Amino acid sequence: MAQLSPKNSPNRGKPLEYTRNIGISAHIDAGKTTCSERILFYSGTVHKMGEVHEGTAVTDWMEQERERGITITSAAISCNWTNREGGLFKGIEHQINLIDTPGHVDFTAEVERSLRVLDGAVAVFCAVAGVQPQSETVWRQMNKYSVPRIAFINKMDRTGADFYGAVKDIKEKLNGNPHPLYLPIGSEDKLSGLVDLVMMRAYVYDPADPSGVKFNIQDIPADMLDMAKEYRQSLIEGVADFDDVIMEKVLEGAEDSITEEQLRWGIRRATMTRQFVGVIPGSAFKNKGVQMLMDSVVDYLPSPLDVPPIKAFQEGDTDVPTAEVVADDFASPTALAFKLWSDPFVGKLVFIRVYSGTVTKGMTFYNPRTRRTERISRLLLLKADQREDIDAAYSGSICAIIGAKDLITGDTMCDKDHEIRLEPPTFPEPVIAMSIEPKTKSDQEKLSIGLQRLAEEDPTFVVSTNAETGQTLIAGMGELHLDIIRDRLFREFKVEATAGKPQIAYRETITAPADGVGKFVRQSGGRGQYGHAEIKIEPLEKGKHYEFCNEIVGGAIPKEYIKPTEEGIKEAMLNGVIAGYPVVDVKVRLVFGSFHEVDSSEMAFKMAGIFAFKDAMAKAKPILLEPVMKVEVVTPDEYQGDIMGDLNRRRGQIQGMETKNNLCTIKAIVPLETMFGYATDVRSLSSGRASYSMEPSHFEQVPSNVLKQIVEGSAKKAARS
Ligand code: GDP
Repeated sequence: MAQLSPKNSPNRGKPLEYTRNIGISAHIDAGKTTCSERILFYSGTVHKMGEVHEGTAVTDWMEQERERGITITSAAISCNWTNREGGLFKGIEHQINLIDTPGHVDFTAEVERSLRVLDGAVAVFCAVAGVQPQSETVWRQMNKYSVPRIAFINKMDRTGADFYGAVKDIKEKLNGNPHPLYLPIGSEDKLSGLVDLVMMRAYVYDPADPSGVKFNIQDIPADMLDMAKEYRQSLIEGVADFDDVIMEKVLEGAEDSITEEQLRWGIRRATMTRQFVGVIPGSAFKNKGVQMLMDSVVDYLPSPLDVPPIKAFQEGDTDVPTAEVVADDFASPTALAFKLWSDPFVGKLVFIRVYSGTVTKGMTFYNPRTRRTERISRLLLLKADQREDIDAAYSGSICAIIGAKDLITGDTMCDKDHEIRLEPPTFPEPVIAMSIEPKTKSDQEKLSIGLQRLAEEDPTFVVSTNAETGQTLIAGMGELHLDIIRDRLFREFKVEATAGKPQIAYRETITAPADGVGKFVRQSGGRGQYGHAEIKIEPLEKGKHYEFCNEIVGGAIPKEYIKPTEEGIKEAMLNGVIAGYPVVDVKVRLVFGSFHEVDSSEMAFKMAGIFAFKDAMAKAKPILLEPVMKVEVVTPDEYQGDIMGDLNRRRGQIQGMETKNNLCTIKAIVPLETMFGYATDVRSLSSGRASYSMEPSHFEQVPSNVLKQIVEGSAKKAARS
């Protein structure tokens, strides 16, 4: 093996070269959890296989996940793997940090944040269903974060499994460049092993060992030999586009002289370009193909040294980050907090990825967001359902820390003398809201604490108070998401809460710049109140939420009153002027004001901030935004007309339609407001034969005729309470 990089500390466990931070993601039910479980089993991390349907999967660690059989939070776990049967790193133990990410659309935030901290990924597909809507979303997210990946076509044991169809789907629907690295031997209940296209040999599982630990290395079955040669040739040609050595051999017609090592390096280089995806068939449930998947993870997915340095903001940067953070144990420590978890035993756990330097137990770090330093009291490595205390986490590791109270998702941890800010992951806006109240009045405080804690953990879960009705509102990515939150309130915070009907989480924004003045002056005997602030607001790029610039000069507003003024502005933004919905994507500049030596107070400036914002917003051509969903309906041909007509009535825009084997797939963009009860309607329109899926797409301006109803509706609600 080549020499290891000098960026490795001699004290670290696995060198950087032998570390893989890998995410597993897919459409719900494609088998990610089962795959993760098998990886833990084959790597010896757990000694008994967990099964999702029995509720014993180790990675599904929240009680609700076990009950509902879905994965909600991505658990970060570490295991070791050594390629035994060949490969670039034969006999060398690697550490694989595995993040199991949820497939349900309600939890896209989890997928986003895990992709941000990973170097490579395994995309799991179902061999029967091929590319499903959520796999498309995940694929796009992986493109956004430039994640090199390999594909695992799971469920090859199921009736209707079609490996080649799924590969074609990746090419056509996802615009990918898939190349099988292995071929399945048999399919459905005849699936017996895999053909290795690099080694040109077969691995046949031993029927006497259902755990799949044992398999025999054999010649390729005679009836598959021609096909295997054909696929190997196409693999070589696919790699040649990215690798000069292989290209030369192809041009010389000397493919037969390509060595195992040359081809593997070629596949590795091709994968790193993100333009090439190796594909492996298997059945996690029937214990086939998972070892080959792990061999491929080690051989073809990048180590932290192989990915381009992460960009970060340093002093002087405004819009574009100019610093580069490189994996190096000796550099200044830099880490990103990507997930919070309140653990019943140890309290607040913060999952971090160390990008550079070494993070040690007991050290203090600086948080550029809060401008505070904090101390790490414990460092933990998570292995399946166990936690191991460690003294140091080196570059490229993923671990959890205890003791950092003020850290939230997206925060950077760095050295005070080397201030740097990593780009945080971006999260979608919540689309659905419900009012919530405790069953018994005395639980109000417990409810508030619980909600606050859960909102800290989950950036797509937002808690607010409706200023007019005084109701507490919770907003999230879907009904399931909010259901789980209520469940967690009950289990973890012992508060039983009742929720109102789901409502749309509208947003308000502005379309023009405007000025606003806010004055809060009271002179009624004794000490008065005096606060005066003037602001300028302007529309901000979509998704940027809010930006604040303090442009006060000459002490027109004393320093200590700037923050209260901003707090007032932020508070006013929680309830916009159209119908009281949160205001997004506004830049606020505080430009002028005045104060009174005696009467000014923090409270007075907070009020001035509120008034200034309301004044400015009313003049800034405000509009109401509604969440719009991407909807996909699969229906037998004969109902196509009715379903399209119905989608049109729901203010839907048809984006595309495709018919295959008498099944028609309709893609549309539809406002969420019109989609309540769709499950029942689509069933009755199609005699129960159509199915649909939907996920948040974006926010769009509400048309004026609908706007009127919404504004009247929210006024009525306020009047009732
Ligand atoms: P996830 O939602 O992607 O995490 O999927 P799970 O791992 O929870 O699997 C969903 C269901 O499919 C469970 O009932 C699994 O037992 C089952 N399953 C997973 N992998 C396979 C497979 O390879 N073959 C078959 N037949 N079933 C599988």
